[in-house]
Amino acid sequence: MIKKILITAGPTREMLDPVRFLSNLSTGEMGYILAKTAKARRYKVTLISGPTALKPPRGVRFVSVESAKDLKRACRIHFPKHDLLIMTSAVCDFTAATRHAQKIHRTRTHRLMLKQTPDIVAALAKRKGKRLVIGFCLETENWLRNAHRKVRRKSLDGIVANYYGKGHNPFGKNRLTAALMDARGKYKILKNHSKSLLAVKVLGWVRDLYHGVNNFSER
Ligand code: C5P
Repeated sequence: MIKKILITAGPTREMLDPVRFLSNLSTGEMGYILAKTAKARRYKVTLISGPTALKPPRGVRFVSVESAKDLKRACRIHFPKHDLLIMTSAVCDFTAATRHAQKIHRTRTHRLMLKQTPDIVAALAKRKGKRLVIGFCLETENWLRNAHRKVRRKSLDGIVANYYGKGHNPFGKNRLTAALMDARGKYKILKNHSKSLLAVKVLGWVRDLYHGVNNFSER
């Protein structure tokens, strides 16, 4: 039975110099709503969050992180104590190859050297044993095909696929259309859902996956 859920949320922030950073548009709302919904269903919940403007839900153990490196470290510490990981984090894919100790001055054109951040969820999923690992992705094209690639490449038990495009912006409080996709690429599309309703459905789906129930037919 699932008792303890680890949820990660929000963006990561990769510092370029003491006052500037690389990040993305993630607000953290999906992860925070999932954490609140899971808590209301009497799960023990740990929420690891990057920088957001949100208040941690009551009764949830809260861990604050900044960079992908911090997130990786926090996940490594907390994952072993949980039955399920839901990784809604929008991890910044790149970080500065070298972080400048002082402010970068604008006296000349500056070339930024970036390096990839580690794939945190893929590394955790490799050693998950009986635990379940669910990812989230946001695609701007071929969302179902790309989600299927990610679920396989990262050895996930499932992925919640979102798309960003004309007339569909999943950031913030907007309603969204998302697909719940299992490890075999079978999926179900949920249309025009609030994040609260999506959170309820994700938790129900994950509980079914944990118990080996799967009734998705589309591919
Ligand atoms: O960014 P991407 O679409 O690959 O994200 C898919 C999943 O992988 C998400 O759950 C995200 O939190 C995770 N991820 C990660 N480490 C990264 C990039 C993404 O754990 N460096």
